[in-house]
Amino acid sequence: MTFRDALPPFSRESADEFGSSDLILRSSDSVDFHTHKTLLAFASPIFRELVASPSPTHPLIEAVDAREGTAVIQLSEPSDALCQLLLLCYPQAVIGAFGRNLDGLCDAYGAAEKYKIPGGKPAVKAAISKYVEDEPYRVYAIACHLELPDLAKSAALETLDDYFLPTDGEYDSPEFAHITAAKLLQLRAFHVQCGVNAANIVKGIASAQTYDAKGSEAARPWWILEGHQGNCGPTIEQDTHRSPAPWFRAHMATVGEVVKSRPNGAAAAQAVLDYTNTLRDISKCGRCCQDSAEHMATLAERVRQLVEDSNTKTVRATQFVKDKSWFSGLSKRTATSMHQLLRTSEDETRGMASMKWDVFVKLMTDMGFQYVPSTSGSSVRFDPPNPQDVPITFHKPYPDSTIHPIMLREFAKKLKKSYGWIEADFLAAST
Ligand SMILES: [Zn+2]
Repeated sequence: MTFRDALPPFSRESADEFGSSDLILRSSDSVDFHTHKTLLAFASPIFRELVASPSPTHPLIEAVDAREGTAVIQLSEPSDALCQLLLLCYPQAVIGAFGRNLDGLCDAYGAAEKYKIPGGKPAVKAAISKYVEDEPYRVYAIACHLELPDLAKSAALETLDDYFLPTDGEYDSPEFAHITAAKLLQLRAFHVQCGVNAANIVKGIASAQTYDAKGSEAARPWWILEGHQGNCGPTIEQDTHRSPAPWFRAHMATVGEVVKSRPNGAAAAQAVLDYTNTLRDISKCGRCCQDSAEHMATLAERVRQLVEDSNTKTVRATQFVKDKSWFSGLSKRTATSMHQLLRTSEDETRGMASMKWDVFVKLMTDMGFQYVPSTSGSSVRFDPPNPQDVPITFHKPYPDSTIHPIMLREFAKKLKKSYGWIEADFLAAST
């Protein structure tokens, strides 16, 4: 059997600098990591168990061996994952190399759970998140594989910075073997959808035909104002119907082409400002010379904002990874209260009954929220089970702690808005 030593800090020489290494962990691809039993035992209760009695019959141990008098435990993790996992266990102040690249982090995520490393999974997830900008496709693949909806969404948004699949190389990553072509096609469909939306936004601006004559002049692009020389002014049909000059329409058509394939706010704004060719045509006009720079800058900023808002909306509405449903596995009591809260077709009270405050609190805690009563006033906060969601506050009815139907409807509205609770999802999960 051939095996090789891991790179520092888990090579023999490097590990010995931190005190004599007394245990070798061997990866599935036969790389030996020189480690310290006490540190491993400190970092994970499972490692504690393994180092105390390294038996080949232990379900997590593939084989035991010895090398020059040091015990060897072979595990099932490949070397890049084992390396990240051990870096996670060692004091960061000394090692400081955990998550220095993406390699192995995908497998390390599962391993952190398997070896029950306290804080391990969130730390691995945070490390993966750092690569969203530089390697969005790889992070997307990882997020789909690990079923992390929020990470998949932020990676998908980053892919909008450029054409779809702009470079090669990233796709040779091992993580791509974990996902199906359907996942990649879904990402492409998202990219296309954002492009179509962005192009429509630009088209809408370029074909604006009516304007409010009373509206402020600053809110209108200068091409719609009068006083141009030559052909650069608006085409006036009726008093309130004006078409942009041909050059403006032509320029915005170019912007539309850009955002169709690179649907991001920055590219869109840049494309709006890139009108030097046009400038030559309109430079004889005093109005254009005077106002174009300022107006185009305002327009570019507006287009950037509209495209970004549209992308955010699209990504929110796209389910790359099935969100762990809020409503799966509710108890019968919780489900009954939920029917009433969301006023579903199965609500026995038909939206007519009030709900006791205590019943509402119970419902929220059953949904995984933490109840945080305010120290002053009637405001009560509920912290959601996923710390990435926003907390929600309600006013406790006083002096009578009964939530009347109209108030309950307001509560439901707020919950729907904050967490996307919808009746259809609940009914689907509860039948
Ligand atoms: Zn002009």
